[in-house]
Formats: sequence, structure tokens, C-alpha cells
Amino acid sequence: MDDAQKCPECRNELKQGYIFSTRRISWSESPDSVFTDIGGEVLVNKAYIKLGKIPALRCEDCHVVIFKYK
Ligand SMILES: [Zn+2]
Repeated sequence: MDDAQKCPECRNELKQGYIFSTRRISWSESPDSVFTDIGGEVLVNKAYIKLGKIPALRCEDCHVVIFKYK
């Protein structure tokens, strides 16, 4: 990851940190899957979250978070 990546919205410098969750993190292109877990793609599973730290970048002004899920 490069130093000083910029926010895609406001171009300010992003703050480095880590994503964590007590559950897995999933992705879906359909809002229906949010309630069922079906049809969603697991980006980060629980085991990986426990191992720890997923580096992430955040813009506090735009509430944007960028992270790589693998
Ligand atoms: Zn921003």
C-alpha cells in the first residue's frame, strides 16, 4: 500500500487504520441478500478477521473506508 493515498471524493489524505468485525464481511449487488446471507459473497470470513488486522484507509470527512479483502 502506498503512503498518502487520497480520498476518491475530497482528495484529502486518507488515514491508515484497521477494519475489524465480530462477523464476516459480505458483499452483494442486491439489497435482498442483506437480510438472508444468501447470494452474498463473503469478502472477509470470520477466521480471517480473528487472525487480525485488515489494513484500511479512511476519510473522516466523507465517511469513506477503503480496504483490501484479501
Ligand atoms: Zn474525503
